[in-house]
Amino acid sequence: MNKLNTINCNLCGSKKNKTVITTKDYLHKIPGKYSIVTCENCGFSFTNPRPFEKDLGKFYTNSPYFKPTIFKKSVDVNKGIKQFLRHTIFREYFNYYPTEKRNLLEKIIVLPFYLLTKNGLRAFGTPNFVKNGKLLDIGCAWGLYLNEMKQTGWNVQGNEIDKKCANWAKKNLGINVESSPIEKSKIKDKFDVVATRMTLEHVYYPKTVINSAKKLLKKNGELIITIPNFGSNEVKIFKEHAYTLQIPTHLNHFTPKKIRDLLKSEGFSKIKIIFWSNDHDILKPLNYIENERDLTTKEKILKSVFKQKILRRVYFLFDRASHGSSRMTIFAQKD
Ligand SMILES: [Zn+2]
Repeated sequence: MNKLNTINCNLCGSKKNKTVITTKDYLHKIPGKYSIVTCENCGFSFTNPRPFEKDLGKFYTNSPYFKPTIFKKSVDVNKGIKQFLRHTIFREYFNYYPTEKRNLLEKIIVLPFYLLTKNGLRAFGTPNFVKNGKLLDIGCAWGLYLNEMKQTGWNVQGNEIDKKCANWAKKNLGINVESSPIEKSKIKDKFDVVATRMTLEHVYYPKTVINSAKKLLKKNGELIITIPNFGSNEVKIFKEHAYTLQIPTHLNHFTPKKIRDLLKSEGFSKIKIIFWSNDHDILKPLNYIENERDLTTKEKILKSVFKQKILRRVYFLFDRASHGSSRMTIFAQKD
């Protein structure tokens, strides 16, 4: 068994915390029990005790993160009718491609698709347009997001501690990816946008990453963060079985309030949060429960409801309206 490290609160340094969830590693199936505690001083929730940094690799065995299987989809997105829709939505509704003429008819044609995909595109981390803009992705993995942003005109740069991923992105996508912890980055550029997607929950020192991002941003630059929502309906309903907990590889568990507070205290403003979920977030927890015991009557009803794609979509609308979606994309401006 791997030894774990008991820590003080990463944000305020307080020793006082109380355990709020104890569970096991459903995702990677590393043996042992793991807990999430909430700081009694500042309210931040984190995995405690947690793996030592030197043992980190042992906890990521068989992670889908290390296979570029998701990649093909993003290449296909840029072909044919999908390309037309995407390009037109970006031009007419996100103000991209300033040298191209606006076209009212096309704007009307793509309106329904815009309305259907608006939240998803923002959730993906689509930044506000900047002419000749520079974008950095911290924890860029295989470069999926950077590749899409490059195709909409951004000058992109990646940062990824995993050398295998970094090299793959360089070789297959021609994207420049630095492979070092961001706080030790040698990147000299300043960026209009710094994104860090599904990364902040994994890092040992989240404040340091936010700070490094700030240093790499131009004045009034935009920071884009995607993270799981610890205040989600998923966590409230499924508790220790919630899919997005993913401990012990997830070390930090932010609520909307906590990420807002942190960004404000680190010198960001105009903070806006987009709420979103994916199918795993409601289907996996029921799977986890079923593998342990029989479902209760309520859980059986939930399962039959969530089986229907259309009902899942309706449920997600409720999640969003109540700010209880499982995931959040945060946009913030450097002061
Ligand atoms: Zn604290």
